[in-house]
Amino acid sequence: QAKQEGRNTYHWFTSELNQSMMDRVTLRSELQKAIESEEFELYFQPLIDARSGRVGGMEALIRWNHPERGMVSPADFIPVAEDTGQIIPMSQWILETACRQNRLLYDSGHRTNVVSVNVSPIQFQPGNFVDIVKRTLETTCLPNHLLELEIVESVLLHDPARVIATLHELRELGVGISIDDFGTGFSSLSYLKRLPITKVKIDRSFIQEITNDPKDAAITQGIISMAHHLKLKVVAEGVETGPQAAFLRDNACDIFQGYFFARPMPMAQLTEFLASYTGAPSF
Ligand code: C2E
Ligand code: MG
Ligand code: MG
Ligand code: MG
Repeated sequence: QAKQEGRNTYHWFTSELNQSMMDRVTLRSELQKAIESEEFELYFQPLIDARSGRVGGMEALIRWNHPERGMVSPADFIPVAEDTGQIIPMSQWILETACRQNRLLYDSGHRTNVVSVNVSPIQFQPGNFVDIVKRTLETTCLPNHLLELEIVESVLLHDPARVIATLHELRELGVGISIDDFGTGFSSLSYLKRLPITKVKIDRSFIQEITNDPKDAAITQGIISMAHHLKLKVVAEGVETGPQAAFLRDNACDIFQGYFFARPMPMAQLTEFLASYTGAPSF
């Protein structure tokens, strides 16, 4: 019985593996086409200031509208683009578009709106990342402090000394740095100490059960308290309900992000959202 189960598992495993390898090869060539024919679009999700209820920023999130597959999740294609190196030209487009769009918002009166851009660890490898950011800020005319970069812990896996030096240079430019998906990696605490960051984003997996699971609640309270002692702002990701928002407010979380407040949306829709926004829903 056990042997048979084992064999079934094995067969299931190989076919999954082949499937995923084939997907990768296909995805790679489709990504190339997508880059050339501009199938990508940048969405923006508002970030809500917990005290004032105002929109203080937005996260840029890439969307791929595939001609046959429809919307493909970045969680599916970003890892492939990282493997193939396609992430480099793609990220250049993302950074430039995010800065350009935020400059347009700035011109229409949103002068405190910060745009947060996700950065892949691969972008640190060529060694010219600071120059790229500097040049992009110049060509798009976006004030430096209105750009923030979101990094993940795994950025330190490859040449940490150089990555840390790069982050210091970015901070000197006035660009903000936040740690994304905080709490899901392996060395979170040591890197809070080593990295010149301005914000911590608590991963959605902790927020999800915050009102039901005392452990998630305790971890979240702990992260907020620790971050505040380190003079860092805290963003909660994936806030979906009023009670979650209330818990976070009562525990001094600084910034909310989640479907309860607003979903990611194309810039045209964000402009309308901002124009008619009178404050966060009550909770
Ligand atoms: P992330 O940076 O942690 O982004 C937050 C994700 O949570 C986004 O998923 C967002 O749509 C989703 N989200 C926000 N609020 C809620 C909520 O209330 N409930 C739920 N269930 N989800 C919520 P998305 O857009 O699918 O992106 C997934 C991941 O893909 C991102 O996670 C990021 O790691 C990566 N990614 C997205 N855009 C880019 C990009 O432009 N460049 C790079 N390098 N990575 C990106
Ligand atoms: Mg992010
Ligand atoms: Mg995140
Ligand atoms: Mg996340």
